Amino acid sequence: MRTTLVADHVLLPDRVLSPGVVRLDDGTITGVDPVGAAGPPGGPETVRLDGRILMPGLVNAHTHTPMSLMKGVAQGWSLLTRQGWLASIRSLEAGLLPTALPAAVAVSCAEMIASGTTTFADQYLFAEEIVPTVVRSGLRAAVAYGIVELGDDAARARELQACADFLASTADAGPLVRGWVGPHAFFVDNTEEAILAEMALADAHDTGLHAHFATSGEEDAWCLEHHGTTALRRMAQLGLLERRMLLAHGCTVLPEDLPLLAGTDVALVLAPNVCMASGAAPPPARRALEHGVTVALGTDNVCNNGSYDMFAEMRAMGRLASFVSRVPDALPARTLLEMATVAGHRALGNGSGAGTLAEGAPADLVTVSTAALHRGPVRMQSLESALVYGGGGHAVVDSMVDGRWLMRDRTLLSLDPAGAYEARDADAETLLAAAQMRAGKA
Ligand SMILES: [Zn+2]
Repeated sequence: MRTTLVADHVLLPDRVLSPGVVRLDDGTITGVDPVGAAGPPGGPETVRLDGRILMPGLVNAHTHTPMSLMKGVAQGWSLLTRQGWLASIRSLEAGLLPTALPAAVAVSCAEMIASGTTTFADQYLFAEEIVPTVVRSGLRAAVAYGIVELGDDAARARELQACADFLASTADAGPLVRGWVGPHAFFVDNTEEAILAEMALADAHDTGLHAHFATSGEEDAWCLEHHGTTALRRMAQLGLLERRMLLAHGCTVLPEDLPLLAGTDVALVLAPNVCMASGAAPPPARRALEHGVTVALGTDNVCNNGSYDMFAEMRAMGRLASFVSRVPDALPARTLLEMATVAGHRALGNGSGAGTLAEGAPADLVTVSTAALHRGPVRMQSLESALVYGGGGHAVVDSMVDGRWLMRDRTLLSLDPAGAYEARDADAETLLAAAQMRAGKA
C-alpha cells in the first residue's frame, strides 16, 4: 500500500527538510522530498503529521526484555560485577519460571515503542518464551539465546543443544525477528570450548553472537594469565572477530586493541547510563569511532537503568564522552543520532539504508512532537541538538516498523500495555513470594 507522510521536519542523514515528504510503498521508503511551492500533497494516501518531526526509529542494541519483571530492583548495585548480581537479583532469577516472561517482555516492548525504539537486540534465558511476544509487538529484533556454562560439560551440552533448537524455531518467526547466539560473557562464564561451539552454531545458522564484554576487565585478566595476551587478541586468535557480533559495554577495552575491531562486523554496544550508575570505567567511545569501529548504544537491563529511553542514552553518551575526554561536545548530536540509528542497524547486519529515511530503506520511523521538544530558537539550536538534549521518549508520538503503525498519537496498536503491566505485576508478586519462601527454608 502506498502512503505519503508529510511532516514539519524530516531528519535525513545529512540535512533536515522543513517541511518534508516521505513516500512509502508497503515496508519500503520510495522517496523523500522537500514540500515544494505548490504545498503538501493531498489525497487519500496522505498522512499529515503536523507539529511533528519525522526521523528514523531508534535501535536499542543491548537489552534483556524479561528483566522488566524485576525493574529497579538492582538500584544501588552494579550488575556489571558478580557481587552486585549475587546481592540483588540472583535469588529472584533462581526462581524465574518461563510463564513469567510474556507479560514482562510485553511491558518492555511497549515501553520501547512508546519511547521511539523500533529495533532491539535482546539476550536472556528462556529466549524461546521471548520471541512470540516480540513478534506480536511488531518490533524488529535480534533475540539471542543466553548461554552460561561455567565449564560444566553437562551444562554446556544442554545449553548448546537448546540454543540450536531455538535457532531452528526462529526460522518461522517472520521477517522481523531473528535468533542469535548469546554467550553471556566470553572467558568469564563461557569457556573456550563453549566459544568454539558457539561460533560453529552461529555459522551454521548464518547469525551473530551477542555477548557482554569488558564490563570490569575479567576477560583481560583471565586471558593474560592463561594466554599471555588480552581478551580481544585472544578472540582474534580464535577467529571470533571474523563473525558478526555485539560486544555489550566495552568499559575496559584497551584503546590499543581497538584497531582489531576496525573494518569487522564486531560492534561495541555502549550503555552509558548503566555504566555511570554502576561506577564502571567509561568506555572509549570517541577513540573507537576514530578507529572506524561500529559503536552502537543500548539501555542494558532496566533493573539498573530503570528506563528504555534511547534519547536518554544518547544524551548520557554525549555528556559522558565530553566529561571523560574534557572536550566539549566530544560526540556531536548528529554522531549520537547515528550511533542510535545507522550504527545499530549496521551492528545487526540489517542492510544498507537501514536507520535512515533514504529511498530504498525499510520504513522504520518515528515522529517526535515539536511542542514537547521545547527546541530553542531555530537559528540558535539545531534540530539534532534539540532531539538529543531537549527531547526524550515522552515526546515520541507515532511509531512505524516495516510500514506498519505500532503507535499513533501515543496509542499503542500492537500491544495492550495496561493488561501487560497488570500481568507483569502479578508475576512479580509470585516471584517475590517464591524467593521469600526459599529464603525461609534456607
Ligand atoms: Zn546486559
